[in-house]
Amino acid sequence: MRPARNALTAGAIIAIVAGLTITAAPAQAATPATGTRCAAGTLSVQTLETGCTATSGTVVTPDGRTFALPAPGESVMASSTSAPGTPELAEVVVANNGTAGVAVRVDDAWRGSAPAVQQERAQSAAATTQAAPAAAATTKCTSTAWEQAGYRWAKTVKWYYNESGQKSTYAKNALRKAANTWTGTISSCDRSVTSTASNGYLRLATQKPNLTDKGGCSGNNGYSVMGWGKLPTGTLGVTCVWYDGNGNAREADQRYATGFKWSSTATCSGSRFDTQAVATHEWGHLYGLGHVNTGTGQVMEPSGGYCQLESRTLGRGDMTGIASLY
Ligand SMILES: [Zn+2]
Repeated sequence: MRPARNALTAGAIIAIVAGLTITAAPAQAATPATGTRCAAGTLSVQTLETGCTATSGTVVTPDGRTFALPAPGESVMASSTSAPGTPELAEVVVANNGTAGVAVRVDDAWRGSAPAVQQERAQSAAATTQAAPAAAATTKCTSTAWEQAGYRWAKTVKWYYNESGQKSTYAKNALRKAANTWTGTISSCDRSVTSTASNGYLRLATQKPNLTDKGGCSGNNGYSVMGWGKLPTGTLGVTCVWYDGNGNAREADQRYATGFKWSSTATCSGSRFDTQAVATHEWGHLYGLGHVNTGTGQVMEPSGGYCQLESRTLGRGDMTGIASLY
């Protein structure tokens, strides 16, 4: 029996190899040469402009922040909120487009590998046309302006909270309320919209959010963790979201700044930031919303002041945005 079985196996292998050779031959002729691999380690924007490819490494943005390179086919975006009168931390996207190389966006400027930049520009142009045009309205409940970040969740956001370093008691409850502000039936501005965005708080965690002290995004680990830590001067919070080439988000981490005084109670007074108000903004980023600069008091305006309790509730643009995405 044994010799016969070996002979059969050998025959099967030969058949498969032959089959592969036949189908692969025409494709090989049409495939362009793949980009060279980037040198291991730190990846500056200048290095990425050579069009090199990488599966790991650390990207350094022009403002000196570091981002762990996402896996090929994946991107990470960092969005933040700042205190009034302080320089806003740039919005950053690091997109690893595999053989097309790596593209980096700092605010509105794309840099890096030319083919990857081209792909990302085409994608965001397509996305922008879906957003509602900014109406010339002047109040929180008349402006329908909103922006999309470029990703959304096809599933419930399951998340953990790390209370290490938290600057106010009940911060976890404030975050939970903020997360739920964008889900289900949302009533604000004398109207209601429905959103299928959903989140589920799991439990306290000892893992840290994957963010750096400068507000960059470090390597993702599959756990969405919200917590506290150092951030650049004037930055209240940063949200990092990791997503695939189809814009499907898979992980999000948030860090709230320990360099400020915070309040997490129903009322708020003095030189404190309201955790729920700032977290509502950060959760807006998490679900897929970008900044609007309408000056009408939308939650997604780029900065927020002391005890800005009105940002616990959505404006009409915020409602329009979340109901459009979900
Ligand atoms: Zn923001």
